[in-house]
Amino acid sequence: MTVELEEVTVQFGRTVALEGLNLTVAAGETVALLGPSGSGKSTALKAIAGFVRPSRGRIRLAGVDVTDVPPARRGIGVVVQQYALFPHLRVADNVAFGLRAARKPRAEVSRRVAEMLEMVGMCMFARRFPRELSGGQQQRVAIARALAIQPQVLLLDEPLAALDAQLRADMLGELQKLRREVPDVAILYVTHDQSEALALADRIAVMRDARLVDIAPSADLYAAP
Ligand code: ADP
Ligand code: ADP
Repeated sequence: MTVELEEVTVQFGRTVALEGLNLTVAAGETVALLGPSGSGKSTALKAIAGFVRPSRGRIRLAGVDVTDVPPARRGIGVVVQQYALFPHLRVADNVAFGLRAARKPRAEVSRRVAEMLEMVGMCMFARRFPRELSGGQQQRVAIARALAIQPQVLLLDEPLAALDAQLRADMLGELQKLRREVPDVAILYVTHDQSEALALADRIAVMRDARLVDIAPSADLYAAP
């Protein structure tokens, strides 16, 4: 489903973390957000997810204004660093969370959780709590949880940063698979890695000092001299 940000401004005290962001990610489109540390990329994702509240502007999903809708009711798959996992839930229950919230039948929940844990190589850790895992393992569970619900909107903040080469490849494959299985999925993807952005994104948006300074199709960047 389409994600629209209209003049979205987010402030933390006196810090303007995001200033008047206008951005539309079309259904079926993947947009990569590039930019230096502190430029507002994560804040943009958190605003869409509903973890931070804009001081100005509106956010719409499939044309519906969700600016005042709580995060859990937005139906979005999220992998952002500070909101990684629910600490009081075991790994399997973290992955099952969104499926249960959507009232999926028990058998389907079990099957899907097993499938997702298999994908990220975490079956052995199903009964563990997040604090018993390494950072990279937590990241893998967060990806499993986000993809479990086959979301219509997927927000990813450096999802592959803590993973080794094989897992990165598997994960990129899984994202391509999601795009095939949920053709309407809108993906917004924060990365520092240009090649990753080019490999995955239809368009690349560049942020600097809380503002969007450039947005262009990846193909144009490929063609650049
Ligand atoms: P990026 O993801 O591009 O690294 P962020 O969106 O995390 O940037 O941060 C943008 C700006 O907002 C930075 O100046 C950062 O220090 C500030 N910021 C982010 N989150 C908070 C917060 N919870 N409280 C105060 N300032 C914050
Ligand atoms: P608070 O500042 O009130 O302690 P947080 O900043 O931790 O809350 O989270 C803001 C909202 O986002 C809360 O309603 C919380 O339940 C929700 N939330 C936090 N992390 C996630 C997540 N990973 N998935 C879904 N909802 C989350």
